[in-house]
Amino acid sequence: MNKIRVRFAPSPTGYLHIGGLRSALYNYLFAKKNNGTFILRIEDTDQKRHVKKSVENLIKSLQWAGLDYDEGTYLKNSKFQIPNSKFIESKNYPGIAEIGEYGPYIQSERLDIYQKYAEQLVKEEKAYYCFCTPERLDQMRKDQIAAKQAPMYDKYCLKNLTQEEINKNLKNNCPRTIRLKIDPGETLEFSDIIRGAVKFETGTIDDQVLLKSDGYPTYHLAGVVDDHLMKITHVIRGEEWLPSTPKHILLYQTFGWEPPKFAHLPLLLNPDRTKLSKRQGDVSVEDYIQKGYLREAIINFVALLGWNPGKGSTKEFFSLNELVKEFELKKVHKAGAIFDLKKLDWINSQYIKKLTISELYQESLEFFKRKDFYNNALPEKKSEEYLRKVLAVEQERLANLAGVGENDRFFFEDVEYDKELLRWKNMSDEELKNSLEKSKNISENISEADWTKENLEKILLEAAGEKRGELLWPLRVSLTGEKKSPPPFEIAWVLGKDETLKRLKQAIDIL
Ligand code: GLU
Repeated sequence: MNKIRVRFAPSPTGYLHIGGLRSALYNYLFAKKNNGTFILRIEDTDQKRHVKKSVENLIKSLQWAGLDYDEGTYLKNSKFQIPNSKFIESKNYPGIAEIGEYGPYIQSERLDIYQKYAEQLVKEEKAYYCFCTPERLDQMRKDQIAAKQAPMYDKYCLKNLTQEEINKNLKNNCPRTIRLKIDPGETLEFSDIIRGAVKFETGTIDDQVLLKSDGYPTYHLAGVVDDHLMKITHVIRGEEWLPSTPKHILLYQTFGWEPPKFAHLPLLLNPDRTKLSKRQGDVSVEDYIQKGYLREAIINFVALLGWNPGKGSTKEFFSLNELVKEFELKKVHKAGAIFDLKKLDWINSQYIKKLTISELYQESLEFFKRKDFYNNALPEKKSEEYLRKVLAVEQERLANLAGVGENDRFFFEDVEYDKELLRWKNMSDEELKNSLEKSKNISENISEADWTKENLEKILLEAAGEKRGELLWPLRVSLTGEKKSPPPFEIAWVLGKDETLKRLKQAIDIL
């Protein structure tokens, strides 16, 4: 069998969609598992849809996810000197030279190749020039819709133009496209690795445009030519491309090339089973990075959107390496995959729990720096030592890193609260004061060296005895000003002895 070669072929329309990450991941896993090659190809032949900087963003998001591509155009700033490799400075994306050793393949830099293949088909009479104006095509479509027909090109230029007229139009440089000649009435069948046998009638396929009037190829032509030239063995892509596949197979047949195998991945759905869309929430990988989801969690979550290791396995956590070992294209489901944010939060919280405090600190620092409560805090509350303590308390409860400190601003800010909040059940003012005084005395008697979470817990619980609420509730509120928070021993430990005493005094003073 030929060496496995797969590609991820995004169009640069702004950002890496979470569905795009899934396609990239499945391609990557399939390649790595089979000792194959994973290619990145930028499909930027629709210049109208092109968004600036999106190629750079795409590459960065893939790099962030750890999905390195194996092959591409060799960039100017590369440290490596590979003999005979193609050395380019990307004309269209000079910025990507900074990003890595290799650039992706870029379709807008390969236009002459597609033009050559389209012209070849015209010469072989398998395709033809179409000089129809956009106005004519519009009118044709309107008439067809009015007559309740499916809108399709009526083959006007194929049926009506003489060779002389064609030559004249070419000589006058009339705007033109090249269309594929499709014979209606055939049935096309192909076998999809995930969906099984798929059948189409060619009567429903338009004489598709291969080359547009601006000299750019359509997605169909460029994709097929590149998949052939890049020796792609398996096309693994989202189900939304399934309706295009018959056109691609026809193109392969027309060129006399063997098509690759196809695997169409299930649609991503919202929990209400509507198609995942930007309106319902974030869909770009960048958004999730910004919200503090860990790479490992996103990869794990995305891998499970349409795949699982099969019956009998209850395993839910997979590292990228484990996925490489266990992933099988055959086990990808046909049914739409539900994108459940609650599950992502849960997976992410599990990965956060697994981090060491040092790792958590490294990952969290930039998120703290985006918070006003952190930026306005006193210097001692921004120290690494202090933040590590805050994180040790929060680690168990964090769903994502953007949440650091959010529920526990009292670690950074002074506290303010209504005196009534200090009251546990129906304690009198007198009892409340005594309780706070007791906490204060206990705290004063613990030395700085003994000020540990464990000691504080032990000493305070002993002192509270049966009546936990009476001692611990007023203490906790005095330290946090909040109805809900982590336990008072942990908070006192983070705040330190001085600040704990200061807040206790403040509480006593307002009574
Ligand atoms: N350029 C297409 C996209 O934006 C690629 C489809 C394919 O993989 O063939 O997703």
